[in-house]
Amino acid sequence: MHNFPLPMRTTHVGYVHGQRNAQGEYHPGVDLNYGAPQEDKGRLIIAPTELEIIHVDRQPYYGRTVVGVNHDLDLAFRFMHLDKILVEQGQWVDPETYLARCGDDDGSADHRYHRGMTAHLHYDVMRPSVLKQRGMNVMTWRASVTRRDVFDDVYVNPAELHGALRTLLATPRPEIPKTKNGQRVDYLR
Ligand SMILES: [Zn+2]
Repeated sequence: MHNFPLPMRTTHVGYVHGQRNAQGEYHPGVDLNYGAPQEDKGRLIIAPTELEIIHVDRQPYYGRTVVGVNHDLDLAFRFMHLDKILVEQGQWVDPETYLARCGDDDGSADHRYHRGMTAHLHYDVMRPSVLKQRGMNVMTWRASVTRRDVFDDVYVNPAELHGALRTLLATPRPEIPKTKNGQRVDYLR
């Protein structure tokens, strides 16, 4: 059990680790948002620990993404849907270094296909050694994300790493706003 700083100052948690979403997928990691979308976009994201930045890119669904590894801890930290990225691949950063700014990027090439989610940080943590045993790495890891058996071994619940997140999760969650047709607002991917 560690007590690293959360990567983004937050008062809200969207989808939590392992929570099934409407598409029947398991959600790895946690979605952090401060509250109102206008407060979240541009909010600074920090490194929870010392990291080697091993991957910076933009992909469908994930949007702009930063991946950092702490080799001593055997933990890979992924930060997604970013607005502006402030680090480069190959860089080593100290704890609390600014990594990026929070965004709503889903990687859409064309705005017509934008899923319309609100700004938040998707944050998840993986064990590189488990991926390696399966002939994969953090960058090639994609499709098996929905399989519970794989999911449980590869991903670490961020609440194990952050006291502030454990506190947040223990407090009652605010009512999730609904749209006119009764659907939940898509804060939460
Ligand atoms: Zn998410």
